[in-house]
Amino acid sequence: MIDSFGRNITYLRLSVTDLCDLRCRYCMPKEGVPKKPHGEILTFEELVEITEAAVELGVTKVRITGGEPLVRRGIVDLCARIRQIPGLRELALTTNGMMLGSLAKPLKDAGVDRVNISLDTLDPDKFRQMTRFGDLRRVLEGLRAAMEAGLAPVKINTVLIGGFNDDEIASFVEMTRENAIQVRFIELMPVGPAAAFPAESFISCDEVLKKVSRLRPAGTSGVSRVYRLPGAAGTVGLITPVSHEFCSGCDRVRVTSDGKLKPCLHSGEEIPLKGLHGAELKEMISYGIGKKPASHDILSPGVRSAGDRTMNAIGG
Ligand code: SAM
Ligand code: SF4
Repeated sequence: MIDSFGRNITYLRLSVTDLCDLRCRYCMPKEGVPKKPHGEILTFEELVEITEAAVELGVTKVRITGGEPLVRRGIVDLCARIRQIPGLRELALTTNGMMLGSLAKPLKDAGVDRVNISLDTLDPDKFRQMTRFGDLRRVLEGLRAAMEAGLAPVKINTVLIGGFNDDEIASFVEMTRENAIQVRFIELMPVGPAAAFPAESFISCDEVLKKVSRLRPAGTSGVSRVYRLPGAAGTVGLITPVSHEFCSGCDRVRVTSDGKLKPCLHSGEEIPLKGLHGAELKEMISYGIGKKPASHDILSPGVRSAGDRTMNAIGG
């Protein structure tokens, strides 16, 4: 479906839970979030029905996200059901990787095409400090399992945080030399707890090109600019929601686990879908796509996102 600014909306980010087994300091409060009553969370039937309606409206790619999607019971079956929707070309999933060691193969067998794994540091102590509970070994096991299962190309999402991981940029880039993966650096956005981070935490993706001058442009992919080290097996992606506006190429909408369609990550506008079926549901999704703004306004560091949810409750 074409939105009001001529953008073709083909990508749905579907959040299946706002709960998580980690507490990344930029994403969630230490105490977590109160568990919502069952009745407020989309059931598997509703998640499938919403996805079917979105696919009928032109969505070809779905990404399952959260919270941590792998903590939702029955996630493998849900993925299998969504993958069977006629017209869907790609099913991807974004995960913190903690449970991927055992779930990578079942997810691949269920029809998941590929995964993105979030990983902000390669140092076990820093990893535990940033995630509060995380075990880096398990995530690296998950990464290996995903590569072995053929969830390719595996992408690693690394949020750049000044003073925390800017000294590891070269090590992350180095991972792409031998492995056919994509390491994607993402600028920290002023959403949730991150909105209170000091200005020095917000660094531009340009820092990656300054630190690793051997990177060569290798095209674009969705909202990321792609680079490659000469002769490397993998690539490096730069996602710059803050320093370079990418809204003109935005092809996505989001649905939260409590059934709200978000036309834009950074707007407070939410369109309730829970309880709707058939033509009414499709009409509301079309209406939501029509509400996509031309662009967001977090271009200057220090400007807070206008959405009032934390990232675990949106899905990234
Ligand atoms: N739990 C899963 C994970 O961590 O991959 C999926 C959900 S998580 C909200 C999705 C992505 O959002 C992760 O890659 C995470 O690093 C990113 N994220 C969370 N808060 C962010 C922020 N303030 N700025 C930029 N990215 C953020
Ligand atoms: Fe959980 Fe992902 Fe948020 Fe970290 S970024 S707290 S893993 S939802």
